[in-house]
Amino acid sequence: MLNHRLGNQSFVKIKAVFILANQKIMTERVVVSISSIHGTRYFHFDKWFHRFLKGFGYFFVFGVLTIVGVIYYLLDEVDFAKLKQQELESKSTSLREEVASLRELKFTLENDLIEREEKINLVSYRLSDLEKVLGMNDSEGELESRLNTAAITSSVRMMMLNQIPSGFPVRNARISSGYGRRKHPITGKTSVHRGQDFAVNIGTPVYASADGVVEVIRSSGKGSGNFLRLQHNYGFCSSYSHLQRFKVKNGDFVQKGDLIAYSGNSGLSSGPHLHYEIRFIGRSLDPIPFVDWTINNFESIFDKVRGIRWESLVNKVELRVSSQLQLSSQRVVQLAASSG
Ligand SMILES: [Zn+2]
Repeated sequence: MLNHRLGNQSFVKIKAVFILANQKIMTERVVVSISSIHGTRYFHFDKWFHRFLKGFGYFFVFGVLTIVGVIYYLLDEVDFAKLKQQELESKSTSLREEVASLRELKFTLENDLIEREEKINLVSYRLSDLEKVLGMNDSEGELESRLNTAAITSSVRMMMLNQIPSGFPVRNARISSGYGRRKHPITGKTSVHRGQDFAVNIGTPVYASADGVVEVIRSSGKGSGNFLRLQHNYGFCSSYSHLQRFKVKNGDFVQKGDLIAYSGNSGLSSGPHLHYEIRFIGRSLDPIPFVDWTINNFESIFDKVRGIRWESLVNKVELRVSSQLQLSSQRVVQLAASSG
C-alpha cells in the first residue's frame, strides 16, 4: 500500500490488490485501487502489462549500463586523443626546431658559398695580375688550367732566377765603371773591362747572385786582390774581386742571397769597389742585363744577352718543373686518397 500526500486536504490511496482466485491466477492479474474523497476506483492490469513493465525495467537498466559504458569508452577515447595530441604537439615542436636548424644550416652554407665565390674571384683577379706579370695573355681559359700554366711559368722563372746570376750582389751600390773596352784607371792601358764595378764602402756585405758552390777563394794583394768565384748551374759563373774578407770556404754550397764576403779595396784597385763578373762556359758577359733581371722583365734578357740558347734552356727547365709539379700534384692526390 502506498500513501501519497497530494495536498493539505486530500489523500489518494492506491491499493494494489492481488486477487487470489487460485495459485495460478495470482500472477495473472493485478488490480490497482485508487481511493479518494470521491470514492474508490479500480484499475485492472493483466500479466502482459506486468511483463511489459518488467521488460521495460530490464531495458532501462540495460540502456543505463550501455550509456555508462559508452561514456566510459568516450572518456577513454578523449584521454587517448589528448595523449595523441600531446604527442603530435611535441612532434610538431621538434619538427619546427629541425626546420629552424636546417634553415640556419642553409644560411650558413649560403654564406660559405658566397665567401668561397669571393675567394675564387679574388684568386682569379690575382691570377690575372700574375698572368700580366708573366706576359701570359690567355686569361680566358679554365681557372685550373690557367693556374697550372701560371704555376709552371712562374716556377720556371723563379728556378732560372735562382740558378742563374740575377740582381745586385751588393745593396745601395753606385754603378761605376761598366763592361767593355776602356782605359785602365791605374795602368792607363786600353783593354776590355770584363766586369761591372760597384762603388761601395769597404766592409759592404756581398751576396751570392745565384745558388751555387764556392769554386775559388784566393787571397792576394795583386790584380783582382782577394778573389771569390761561384760555380752555378747551366754553365754560369760569377766572381767577386778586391774583397776585404771572405764569409765562405772553398766547396761551400750557397743559396742566392747568402752572405759570401765583404767588399774592399784589395789588389790593383783605384778605390773601394766591388768588381763583379759573370761568365758562361768561360766567356765573360756584360753583368748589367743580369743585374737588372727580375720576374717582371724576365724575357728581356733573351734579347739583351746573345750567344746563349735561351729557348733550349727554358724548354729543359720547363720539362723539369712541370714533371716536378705533376709529381707534387699526384702526391697531393695520393695524400688526399690515403687520408680519406
Ligand atoms: Zn772592375
